[in-house]
Amino acid sequence: LDYAPAPESTAILNLKSDYGLFINGGFVDGHGTPFSTISPATEKTIATIASANDEDVDRAVAAARRAYDNTWSRMSGSDRGKYLFRIARLVQERARELAVAESLDNGKPIKESRDVDVPLVAAWFFYYAGWADKLDYAGAGASPTALGVAGQIIPWNFPLLMLAWKIAPALAAGNTVVLKPAETTPLTALLFAEILQQADLPAGVVNIVTGAGSTGAALVNHPGVNKIAFTGSTNVGRGIAKAIAGSDKRVTLELGGKAANIVFDDAPIDQAIEGIVNGIFFNQGHVCCAGSRLLVQENIHDEVVDRLKERLSTLRLGDPLDKNTDIGAVNSAAQLERIKTLSDIGENEGAERWSADCVIPSEGFWFPPTIFTNVSTSHRIARDEVFGPVLSVLTFRTPAEAIAKANNTPYGLSAGIWSDKGSRILAVADKLRAGVIWANTFNRFDPASPFGGYKESGYGREGGRHGLAAYLKPEGSARAVTASPA
Ligand code: NAD
Repeated sequence: LDYAPAPESTAILNLKSDYGLFINGGFVDGHGTPFSTISPATEKTIATIASANDEDVDRAVAAARRAYDNTWSRMSGSDRGKYLFRIARLVQERARELAVAESLDNGKPIKESRDVDVPLVAAWFFYYAGWADKLDYAGAGASPTALGVAGQIIPWNFPLLMLAWKIAPALAAGNTVVLKPAETTPLTALLFAEILQQADLPAGVVNIVTGAGSTGAALVNHPGVNKIAFTGSTNVGRGIAKAIAGSDKRVTLELGGKAANIVFDDAPIDQAIEGIVNGIFFNQGHVCCAGSRLLVQENIHDEVVDRLKERLSTLRLGDPLDKNTDIGAVNSAAQLERIKTLSDIGENEGAERWSADCVIPSEGFWFPPTIFTNVSTSHRIARDEVFGPVLSVLTFRTPAEAIAKANNTPYGLSAGIWSDKGSRILAVADKLRAGVIWANTFNRFDPASPFGGYKESGYGREGGRHGLAAYLKPEGSARAVTASPA
């Protein structure tokens, strides 16, 4: 193994019209009914994608098991790390192509896929590559503590980044993988499979099975899978926890959120306005940790809302592939319907709705940046996850009231605090029931930092050494077998 990068790719995007499943190192036909993946900005088909049925999932799990037994679990950590470094570098080399494919398939603005998603994907592989050789036990063989075959199921909002969050720590820890991408955004996972081929990753170490929820369910129920890592909705997560109960599978769940973004009257206001906008309108609000509830101190409510409306009126909605676009397309017709329904309910319950005056393209799925004021904590737009570009504004007078309102949700994934006073930030953060808390910033991600939720936002952490631990046997169950000289 060496670190030499592959020759640079000149093609920005060279898509095939049909994609198979990626099993045992190659693309193969699926036995389910193939489906189309479309661009949500134009509703045009990008490619036809194979669908995996139970038999295909079985083949993928068998390939992952063979790779685990014969190759990956026997390889030294430093060699596993070299593969991960190679993958990270190939992601960087093919960054433009991956960013264009992601924006095409998902609808997100190219400046986000180019500047956020794809660089973070490379960062995640670099980060976990560095862990791989820190886990070996002397003389014990390569990875005495890996779990085995990990089944990983991901959503459509950050298709490639969620893949990286799942695959990088699993491989670093010595597991092999069967991953199921979301049915509306399978494209970049399949381009990633090409990268694995370029990297010469041994066959079967990563398998990608595309398909609908039933493909995910087949993976969850497969007796050959040792761990399920799921990111998606709370409902499906709950079903997975039930399906797994009583088995010896390990599970981590990253589910929904309804984050409070708390703005005190001493906050740096220009910075806060940008942070609120980024907090909820980044990626069209399709973000589990989105700051969808703005809690603003009562005496600055009018100023903050006026400035937000002014700022939102400057955002450009449209073609995700235009580098000036701020708000791209909503990912699917179903998601658009959900956003519309919850917004209508918000209005019917008595909240005041304001939307930026955007020109909506005639084709595709679009929703303008929208703010609800006069929202009370009992309104559904203050409680349900919209997963779209919709901000609910509530007010508070005292820190204690801000904390009580912020915690008044079934979720507990993230929160933001804006204040000039460090002591106040620390005191409030201490009382928030959320897994991730940002101070005077929002939506910042780092592979070294653990990410995950409280309450109905799920359990387990991804990122950092905690994320790695989720793919290792608990300390104490590991055995180091060291032969002594005769
Ligand atoms: P979803 O739960 O419908 O789907 C997620 C994935 O699960 C998809 O790949 C889907 O095909 C699969 N799936 C569906 N039914 C299944 C079943 N019965 N068994 C196994 N797999 C099944 O969610 P979504 O609409 O794709 O994503 C949106 C949700 O994801 C939001 O609620 C959001 O908050 C959450 N999310 C959470 C995080 C996080 O880190 N906490 C990150 C991104 C998204």
